[in-house]
Amino acid sequence: MTTRRLIGTNQQFTIGKIICLARNYAEHARELGNETPAAPVLFMKPASSVIGDGDTVQIPAYSQECHYEIELAVLIGTQARSISAGEALEHVAGYGVAIDMTLRDVQNQLKAKGLPWEIAKGFDTGCPLSDFVPFSAVADPHALNLKLAVSGEIRQNGTTADMINRIPQIIAHISAIFTLEPGDVILTGTPAGVGPVRAGEVMTAEIATIGCLTIPVA
Ligand code: ZN
Repeated sequence: MTTRRLIGTNQQFTIGKIICLARNYAEHARELGNETPAAPVLFMKPASSVIGDGDTVQIPAYSQECHYEIELAVLIGTQARSISAGEALEHVAGYGVAIDMTLRDVQNQLKAKGLPWEIAKGFDTGCPLSDFVPFSAVADPHALNLKLAVSGEIRQNGTTADMINRIPQIIAHISAIFTLEPGDVILTGTPAGVGPVRAGEVMTAEIATIGCLTIPVA
């Protein structure tokens, strides 16, 4: 079981399903040559893909091109099924930092064949995830700077203000398809600047006021 703390409380959550949005920042959709979707594009990672601060991403042998994607992670605190956007934030326990590791070469091959992405996204070590800052301590989750550096060089520098689908709409949309349970996590998409990371490099992912991950790559 993988657990995460709600910082400053004695609450601990067992991580459940991890639901991720693709193409939720227009600039990033463009950089990969994708259209900006009308409805959120969803995929999942298993809890077994989660690693913590200081742990190492192991690039699987079947990929030659592993990309980083820094994302704001939303931790669900209470069960949510078919809820409205207006009710959505009542179900959020906190916010954290995630890196949606993506085997871009594998994903591109799968996309071209119309096949699912799981092996490009859900592999072991493919989801570095921080502990969570309580909901009440975050004034505005849509005004956070996200910054990812590889071996000290900044590659992504964006803001959650640029999300296409906002957190209440995302939760409402997902909850009509998948019942959200305490410990489930939503990864809200990545800003522009994604790119490859290689064995021997170190990623640092920081979301202002939320947290920071330092993740070596092997
Ligand atoms: Zn992503």
